[in-house]
Amino acid sequence: MTDTVFAKILRGEIPAKFVHEDEHCVAFPDIGPKAPVHLLVIPRKPLKNVADMGEDDRALVGHLLWVCRKVAAEAGLAEGGYRIVHNSGANGGQTVDHMHFHVLGGRRMTWPPG
Ligand code: AMP
Repeated sequence: MTDTVFAKILRGEIPAKFVHEDEHCVAFPDIGPKAPVHLLVIPRKPLKNVADMGEDDRALVGHLLWVCRKVAAEAGLAEGGYRIVHNSGANGGQTVDHMHFHVLGGRRMTWPPG
């Protein structure tokens, strides 16, 4: 596991304003928002992405999606809808090698993604 900007955020070495934190994960705004609301939900456990998951991580990743739902609702996105994105590996467009789910909302999303 390489050290990443998200590991530094978890250790408090890089600032981030947590909108959610619990024993398993934290959520904070993306520094380069791609939508009016753009939050990231990351596990404390240093998993790289879903490809790096083990069977024992299934409940953790379910929890991360539950927290995506929670922070989306708290940001006022529940009624209008939103998008949850996970980029896994180079071809998935992943740039930070610590698992994260993007929660994007506040505008109409387009499809397909680039
Ligand atoms: P991905 O390309 O899916 O790996 O997403 C990584 C995301 O991390 C990008 O959307 C970046 O804008 C975001 N990011 C990088 N550094 C920070 C930071 N210090 N605080 C918040 N978000 C960050």
